[in-house]
Amino acid sequence: MKNTKLNDGIEIPAIGFGTFLIPSDGSTYTAVREALEIGYRHIDTATAYENEEEVGKAVRDSGIPREEIFITSKLWLSQFDNPQKGVERSLKKLGMDYIDLYLIHQPYFDVLKAWEGLEAAKADGKLRSIGVSNMSPKMWKSFIPQFETLPSVNQIECNPLAQQKEIRSLMARDNVKVECWGPLGQGNQALLTNEAILQIGEKYGKNAGQVILRFETQDGMIVLPKSVHPERIKSNLEIFDFTLTEDEMNIIRALDTNKPSRDPDAPGRGEYLSKKFNITD
Ligand code: NDP
Repeated sequence: MKNTKLNDGIEIPAIGFGTFLIPSDGSTYTAVREALEIGYRHIDTATAYENEEEVGKAVRDSGIPREEIFITSKLWLSQFDNPQKGVERSLKKLGMDYIDLYLIHQPYFDVLKAWEGLEAAKADGKLRSIGVSNMSPKMWKSFIPQFETLPSVNQIECNPLAQQKEIRSLMARDNVKVECWGPLGQGNQALLTNEAILQIGEKYGKNAGQVILRFETQDGMIVLPKSVHPERIKSNLEIFDFTLTEDEMNIIRALDTNKPSRDPDAPGRGEYLSKKFNITD
């Protein structure tokens, strides 16, 4: 497992297992147990995914010491008025006494209050590292100067068709790591059957998913691929035994369309998300 260092000195595995849309009907438990068995040591969940309980149980039942597994969860919009309560809720659901990384999931409404709450929970030892998610360049320029401490990551949509070069260059100035959500384009077939990517894969005996995840990690990003299929969970982790040449990196860099599937700056996005993921307790 390859680790990378965040700007607060915390080490994080460069690949984590994503759990968005894996239901809490035993499927999250099974998938996370499988991922840990295969060798993942970093799991990404969120209050809004409503599967923290199964993640926590899978971690406990794995028999792997807690400190060897990096857990990320996220504060939901409805909790920004009382971030400490949100953190406590995640800790309780996970059945843990600390969380390795906790993010402001969506940057709308009272972001400053939410951030101050996460800073306080970090000072209390409940969170080891704190970060943000879905911040566009415009939001980054507006919020970051108002924060007392820098986030350690910004978890954003990122894949070879949407490489997010503007926000990445802003973040690089503060040594803030990119975490790619949707690193496989959320299963986008145009990406997974791209001819250039398949050709590069042929050279190394790797599938498209492996080439894409290798590209992203080789460019310094943290990736969080999700799958419920054991063979994919396994193959998505097998990306550290080959290296793309600079020419191959440039071929993939040239695939960027600069069109992510979601626009964080779209009017009404915060309201839309609040309604879609209705966390009330
Ligand atoms: P991914 O890019 O990880 O794609 C997941 C999809 O790709 C699933 O449909 C999966 O299907 C399929 N897939 C997985 N591996 C392969 C493979 N090797 N070849 C072909 N298809 C494959 O998208 P996600 O949206 O899940 O993003 C990853 C993680 O990022 C999430 O799970 C979540 O933890 C986080 N996230 C964070 C967000 C945020 O706002 N901060 C937003 C969205 C995601 P199958 O399961 O059937 O294998």
